[in-house]
Amino acid sequence: MEDVVILGAGVFGLWTAFAALGRGRDVLLVDRAGPGAGASGGVIGALAPHVPERWNAKKQFQLEALLGLGAALGEAEAAGGGSAGYGRIGRWQPLATPEARARAGARAGAAAERWGGAAGMEILPPDAAAGWLDPAAAPEGIVADTLTARLDPAATCAVLARAVAARGGRLRRAEAVSLGPEGVRLTEGRLRARQVVVAAGAESFALMAPLLGALAGAAEKGQALLLDAPAPALPLLYGDGTYVLPHATGGIAVGATSERAFTDPLGTDAQLDAVLERACRLCPAIRGAPVLRRWAGLRPRALGRDPMLGPLPGAEGVFAATGGFKISFGIGHAAGAAVAAQLDGEDPGLPPGFAPEAHLSIE
Ligand SMILES: Cc1cc2nc3c(=O)[nH]c(=O)nc-3n(C[C@H](O)[C@H](O)[C@H](O)COP(=O)(O)OP(=O)(O)OC[C@H]3O[C@@H](n4cnc5c(N)ncnc54)[C@H](O)[C@@H]3O)c2cc1C
Repeated sequence: MEDVVILGAGVFGLWTAFAALGRGRDVLLVDRAGPGAGASGGVIGALAPHVPERWNAKKQFQLEALLGLGAALGEAEAAGGGSAGYGRIGRWQPLATPEARARAGARAGAAAERWGGAAGMEILPPDAAAGWLDPAAAPEGIVADTLTARLDPAATCAVLARAVAARGGRLRRAEAVSLGPEGVRLTEGRLRARQVVVAAGAESFALMAPLLGALAGAAEKGQALLLDAPAPALPLLYGDGTYVLPHATGGIAVGATSERAFTDPLGTDAQLDAVLERACRLCPAIRGAPVLRRWAGLRPRALGRDPMLGPLPGAEGVFAATGGFKISFGIGHAAGAAVAAQLDGEDPGLPPGFAPEAHLSIE
């Protein structure tokens, strides 16, 4: 009989394991392919805040998570060694029209109100760094924030996996086939546990469906790539739905597509070429840089588009830690800490929309 079994060693499963071990629990992580093998093994790692307008509990949760991430990663790096490539480098977004500039001005006011003194937003001239963000793409200037950060997703998973091992966590390579009151059925036999956390990324929804009576989410495919280009000590760029992200660990990442319908879940195609072309228009300095890696993954998107964290209704001892969708890396440590508290019977005060039953009530 295991104490806590966590299905999935992506960013959510790893942070949940790290937090549960920190509380003195005994943890077995089960992953069919190893740490960071799913969506968490990608190349982007942008940690961008939600817009500060129409504030709500989810945005407050993410803000506090973003502000605490550097310290949390520092703790994991101290335990496991290595670097996650984290840095609060900020974000620049080009402003193409006077209307966009006016909206950005209002947004900067909302950011001052919501982010307090912790971070800010301002409008810079189009040529703030002409060799990085093309002034022609930003005729009305650049909206710059100091809250956005970045990390290297694969390096982060490697740090966390070592940190989990350093705290005594165990990892088993096995595939979970189903869940039930009797525990977890693996392809190679049954596993009994006091508590099970489903952190299997986009596959969590299928694993939980028999217990919930419904699919509580779906996979949304994304494609991205990593360029072999010197990464300047400048903010990441985001424009026209496209990121250009300089990594501390080397290279510049570009992405990403958002695909609800797809036939090849992990393949890359011409849609990624189109993303790269948009990125080159934003940042001509990267045009022609050799591509080191083209990559695709499946984001876990819960029905309510919020994270799905907590006990499954009607399934004693089974918890969800999934649904991070596009913001998993910025909130993973906070999500893991919250689920670890729930495993110990505590109420971490999560936004109500994060509860599994809240997602199920969405049409
Ligand atoms: C192109 C792209 C760009 C992205 N950019 C960003 C970004 O900039 N910032 C950000 O925060 N997020 C980003 N995301 C989203 C982020 O990558 C995901 O939300 C996050 O990685 C999900 O983490 P997870 O731990 O929930 O799931 P995963 O990382 O998918 O982990 C699930 C794990 O479970 C294992 N598993 C699955 N099924 C089973 C089973 N039956 N039995 C055993 N093991 C199983 C898998 O092997 C995997 O290791 C991006 C995603 C994509 C695709």
